[in-house]
This record gives sequence, C-alpha cells and structure tokens, in this order.
Amino acid sequence: MINSFRNANFRTSAFELSQLIPDHGFEIAFAGRSNAGKSSAINCLTDQKTLCKTSKTPGRTQLINFFSLDDSRHLVDLPGYGYAKVSKKMRDHWDLVLSTYLLHRKALKGLIIVVDIRRGITELDQGLIDMLADNLPLHILLTKSDKLSKTAVRSAVMRAQSQLNNELHTVSSLSVINRHGLDQLEAKCREWLAFP
Ligand code: GDP
Repeated sequence: MINSFRNANFRTSAFELSQLIPDHGFEIAFAGRSNAGKSSAINCLTDQKTLCKTSKTPGRTQLINFFSLDDSRHLVDLPGYGYAKVSKKMRDHWDLVLSTYLLHRKALKGLIIVVDIRRGITELDQGLIDMLADNLPLHILLTKSDKLSKTAVRSAVMRAQSQLNNELHTVSSLSVINRHGLDQLEAKCREWLAFP
C-alpha cells in the first residue's frame, strides 16, 4: 500500500487562532507533554526524518504546525505542555488557543495524545482528556515502547485503556526505534482522515 503519510509537507505555523488554516476537510492533531516523543512519532508516521523538529530541549516548539497530506487532509502538531520554564502568560495564551481549537474545530476528527510509556498518563494528560470528555475521539499513543519488555508494554496499554473510561477512546504503543505499533497508528489516522 502506498504510504499517503509520506506526502506530508509543511503548510504553515500558527500562534493565534486567526492564523489557523480554513476550517474544512479532515485534521488529526497531536498533543502531549514536552519530550513525550510527539515530534518523533509524527516523523515516524510520515517516514520523514526532519518534518518535525525533535529536540533535547523540551518546550521549544511553541506553535501550531500544519502539515498537508493532500488538499483536504492535515496533520496538526500542537505545542507540547508541562514544561516548567514557560511563562504564565504564555501558558494562559496556549490554554485559551488550544481549548478553543480542540473544542470548536469542525475539521478536527480526532486527537492523538502522546505519552511516554514509562510515565503513563499524567495529571496534565488527564486534564486534557477530561476537558475533551465526549467531545472528540481520542487516541493515547504510548511511545518509547522499546524501553520496556513486551509484557510491561501490554500492561501499560491495558492500564491506560482502563483509565480512559470511555470505549470510544483507544490506546496503542509505538517505538520509533523498531517501528512496533506503527501499523496501529497508521490505521487510526487512516480511519479519522477517511482515507479511501
Ligand atoms: P517531543 O518534545 O514530544 O516532540 O519529543 P521528541 O520527539 O523530541 O522526543 C524526545 C526524546 O525522546 C528524544 O530524545 C527522542 O529521541 C526520544 N524518543 C522519542 N521517541 C522514542 C522512541 O520510540 N524510543 C526511544 N528509545 N526514544 C524515543
């Protein structure tokens, strides 16, 4: 099968709601704590090494980045959260922009919340999950699965699933090192983006 995610190319960045691209078509957004592995996951999905900047300095990416797959389908990289050095003013800015985007965007078909599998769902992730509740389909992506044994990965997936309290929300694991779990991530994205 042709990997349509490989076609991803950078479209634009937004700091304000007014800078978002027009609200039509299909979008999937990626959120997560800084350093959870969000950029690496997007690069793995799109099979591009440098589409998203990965960084050892958490909290550096503070923009909403849109990547086009075709005229009507986009991947959206949201700013990472939970980085202590971000000012209160900036945190308030993103709280407002992101909650408005996540709760009101018509094109948004689902949110992938990237979580370090060793850490599991944190309070900050849970806050986001609770805010969206039944308003948006969620998928928890437990990354860096190569850091744990197969048994530990299975139990982390089950634990996360039991924390979700909603059968519409799903969980899978991913390692960008050995690419285990990439098929499941791709399948979820294809479903949400209504790929033929
Ligand atoms: P972001 O801040 O959420 O975008 O996180 P990054 O994608 O920049 O990743 C943070 C760190 O985790 C980097 O050092 C990555 O190399 C590392 N990382 C990300 N995904 C994986 C993975 O699947 N396995 C391993 N071992 N390391 C990973």
